[in-house]
Amino acid sequence: MAIGGTKVNVKTAKVIRYVGLIVPVGLFLYGSLIKYDLIASTSFLNNGLFYAIIIPWLILAVYQFVFPGKSELSSVTRIVLYHLFATAYLLCVSGLALPIVTTWTLLFLATYAYFGDNGLRLSVITLLIVVVTDSAYHVEDTKLLTANIIAIITVLLIGVASIGISRIRETESDALDHSKALEALERDRILTLINNLADAIISTDENGIVRVYNASSLSLLDTNNNLNGRNIDEILHLMDGDKKRVSLLKEMQKSRGVVVRDDMTITFSDDIVRLEVTYSPIRGTFSRTRGGDNEDGYVIIMRDITKSKSLEEERDEFISVISHELRTPITVVEGTVSNVQLMMERPDIPPQRLKDSLMVAHDQVVFLAKMVNDLSTLSRAERGVADTAEDINVRILIDDIYNEYAPEAKDKNLHFDLDTSPSLGTINASKLYVQELLQNFVTNAIKYTNEGNVTLIVTKHKDTVEFAVKDTGIGISKSDQSKIFNKFYRSEDYRTRETGGTGLGLYVALKLAKKLGCHIELTSRLNHGSTFSFSLPLKK
Ligand code: ADP
Repeated sequence: MAIGGTKVNVKTAKVIRYVGLIVPVGLFLYGSLIKYDLIASTSFLNNGLFYAIIIPWLILAVYQFVFPGKSELSSVTRIVLYHLFATAYLLCVSGLALPIVTTWTLLFLATYAYFGDNGLRLSVITLLIVVVTDSAYHVEDTKLLTANIIAIITVLLIGVASIGISRIRETESDALDHSKALEALERDRILTLINNLADAIISTDENGIVRVYNASSLSLLDTNNNLNGRNIDEILHLMDGDKKRVSLLKEMQKSRGVVVRDDMTITFSDDIVRLEVTYSPIRGTFSRTRGGDNEDGYVIIMRDITKSKSLEEERDEFISVISHELRTPITVVEGTVSNVQLMMERPDIPPQRLKDSLMVAHDQVVFLAKMVNDLSTLSRAERGVADTAEDINVRILIDDIYNEYAPEAKDKNLHFDLDTSPSLGTINASKLYVQELLQNFVTNAIKYTNEGNVTLIVTKHKDTVEFAVKDTGIGISKSDQSKIFNKFYRSEDYRTRETGGTGLGLYVALKLAKKLGCHIELTSRLNHGSTFSFSLPLKK
């Protein structure tokens, strides 16, 4: 609180201290003029009394100036003493002569400043007592009584006016404090908000000097340094799509409104980060009131779009590869079916040729169906449709898989074996994903094994169950082992090419394993066979 209460602000207290020193000094000089008869006073009693009042008052004045009061008690004591000295001075030295009595308004102000309305009332009452006492002494002197009445009215008027002014100032400064506090709160709110945004936000002045930035700006720029006061082009080394250096400040100065660009990049030691940069000028009401269309600065919002851009590119590439992969079988089916139609019109064509052609078309349709199936599994896994985990009895799961594929293995004259621990326990995972993974490995094992065994091995360890599909098939060369999990990759090995396949199975398997939180292990030797395995935690 500025004034009008017990907590006086530093500035007011300082003014009161100085006034408290100057006034008694002034009164000492005024009293001396009376003493030497240079000014008339009917109240001046004698020299001894004058000194008895003014000397301790001067001592108090110097003391309060050198040792400003800290406690409320010392403020009360000082103000009461000042009132007593002033009372004695007016009654015994100067009388209520007009210029001097007005110094009492200073007592009003100081008392009001320290003790508010109650203090002010006491000060006014003291003055009234002084006036009444003085008037009682000079009751026969009408001139002096009139002078006293004029003096008291003058002091009260000046007092009321000064207190009124200080009250207005008090209200204004309260309103100012309130609006400053609101502004600080608003600023804190906005800062908290922008600090919690994932996007980097930087605000600069019209010369591109950074004024405000949020926490994400530091992580985007990979720095801990203070950015305030630095030039935006110095801290942001932006490149455009043609790898040319971009001066953001120049771009911002050219722009007339909000601009969004997603072709910018920023390079760190070994990383290129792709950015979506949005910038716009700030036109504050302040600059408008100054007249003119001046910008106050700029706001820049940056978002790391590296991931979404590469996903976008990956998707585009995927679509282009898929359409290519689908085109070949569709062309084959279309061509073969047209051929069959033509052949059917010619009686000389043997039925076996028709049958063979239809067989080719059929195989391609089966291939297409397999690819569509793989794609839908992939899409399901990517969308997380079957992410929900459930308790799976491993024994039942394995028996089901074994029974499903035993006929296929038998058709190829392969030994399909089941090698499991006596008890297998329960796991908690997405059943669909575990099934798809095992089916993928078993189908491949049967497909890429011409003679020998395919074994489904399930081993219960302390905390995990390990699933492995082992075959004695064609095996996978070292160089292929690193590639077979890529999408649409099929080995160049002629024995692989003899079989139909989309090259998507293991790519899907890798995605599913990621979803299940496990790794696929592969051990393989060309012409000796392969083992694909993964482990899942047992349910406690
Ligand atoms: P597809 O079997 O449809 O070709 P996959 O993604 O399932 O596609 O497999 C990719 C490649 O990995 C296969 O083309 C094959 O070359 C190789 N491969 C996968 N499983 C085996 C296996 N058990 N034995 C030998 N090669 C395999």
